[in-house]
Amino acid sequence: MTSEPVYSIDAFMDQIHGYIKDTHTIEHIRHAYQYAKTHHEGQKRQSGEPYITHPLAVAFTLSEYKTDPTTIIAGLLHDVLEDTPATYEDIKEAFGEPVALLIEGVTKLGQYQYKGTLEDEEEKLAAQAKNYQKMLLAMAKDIRVIVVKLADRLHNMRTLDFMDEAKQKRIAKETLDIYAPLAHRLGMYVMKAELEDTSFKYLEPNQYRQIAQMISDTKNERENDLTMMQTNLEYLLRENKFEYDVKGRVKNIYSVYKKMQSRDKEFEEIFDLLALRVILPSIENCYSAIGVVHSKWTPIPNRFKDYIAMPKPNLYQSLHTSIIANGKIYEIQIRTQEMDDIAEYGIAAHWAYKENATLAMTETTTQKLKWYSDLVEFTEESKSGEEVLDLLKEDIFNSNVYVFTPDGDIIDLPKGAMPLDFAFRIHTEVGLKSVGAIVNQKIVPLEYKLQTGDIVKMKTSKQSFGPNDNWLKLVKTSNARSKIKNYLNKKRRDELIAIGKEDFTARTHQASLHRDFHR
Ligand code: MN
Repeated sequence: MTSEPVYSIDAFMDQIHGYIKDTHTIEHIRHAYQYAKTHHEGQKRQSGEPYITHPLAVAFTLSEYKTDPTTIIAGLLHDVLEDTPATYEDIKEAFGEPVALLIEGVTKLGQYQYKGTLEDEEEKLAAQAKNYQKMLLAMAKDIRVIVVKLADRLHNMRTLDFMDEAKQKRIAKETLDIYAPLAHRLGMYVMKAELEDTSFKYLEPNQYRQIAQMISDTKNERENDLTMMQTNLEYLLRENKFEYDVKGRVKNIYSVYKKMQSRDKEFEEIFDLLALRVILPSIENCYSAIGVVHSKWTPIPNRFKDYIAMPKPNLYQSLHTSIIANGKIYEIQIRTQEMDDIAEYGIAAHWAYKENATLAMTETTTQKLKWYSDLVEFTEESKSGEEVLDLLKEDIFNSNVYVFTPDGDIIDLPKGAMPLDFAFRIHTEVGLKSVGAIVNQKIVPLEYKLQTGDIVKMKTSKQSFGPNDNWLKLVKTSNARSKIKNYLNKKRRDELIAIGKEDFTARTHQASLHRDFHR
């Protein structure tokens, strides 16, 4: 556990100088710091420290992720709107509209109180769903809002000791339920791990202490094993002329706890505590290295995972394998430097600020982020909180299945997805005209649950009757559901109009007869 370091403006500016060179931009950042300092003058944190230590710490974290100047400035000013007399217009004038919009987003996000303590299950669900909804909408406008909010929450967690116990528990629960999964979904592993561990420490202090103790008790033995394995592995890689970098890996306390729970295992049985990571220059190298490793040590069946060919939804890529050496089990991860950056810093690694480069997302990143634009679309239309929450749980927090188009393109879908989910992901028209599905060259019912590796082809027909209410019960993705709903609503509207027209014609006809009669 990292203890809270003391941030100074000098250390912060050093960090900024590390990746921003433009003097005008740097002056702008310094100005934002002065602005925040002046506005928070006289305010204090619960710890008794001057308030400015908090926004400075937040901006420091953001600079560790090499976020762009707009995000850094928003980090410095993130509490100015809420806690000082400064207005949106003031900030817009002094620092420009993008900064003002980001701060407004962060402020709004903070105004919703998470009701993790509500007794009533249903109310709790609805409240939780609303909160997610708010976050998604904020993300839809600008994902940097969430990145600033995560940095804000990280510092609040690091300084939680100064709050009373009830508040500690409420904030820790909210962090564990909402912010850590979001960090995970954005692939920000380092952030996620610290948010989880600090939350766990406040929620389950005894279990936290116990596991932390076990990890440190077994540290020496584990380090000896790891060092020996690392030496052997490096020798093997050198022999095969790889340019490599090997490092040990530390598992966070909360993930050890979760693993013990979900697999009902003792601490000693969690074998990926012994883990090594190999960084290689190219993807080809990664695949040949795994071959070399498997020919030297016995791999454990079913433990080999190829996340390079099939990345996780949060963009994570790597090869994983577990091998047996000297009677111990080691997990080995093999990946490129770029994959490693994404594994640690997630989406932020994609956006790491490079001067003179556009901040525009690459096409692949946009593609990979499609899950969340789908979700936003759905949450904007939906009214039932429970429905939204269910979908979020499926779409965001569950692992996915990966299927192939006949052309070999990978489509990722939530677990339990049906052929219709696949069809609507390909194209709305394909979905609407679907009459059947062919999976691995066999006709399957529309209720078929897609499995990773399936090759899926949809049968479509111009004569198709189109979606019906039953389809709504079948589909698993928010995307398919909202498209079917739109279709059904439109169809109903058209039918009503048609009935209305008939009615109208009949009435006018009658009316004219009536008139004729009286003429
Ligand atoms: Mn704050």
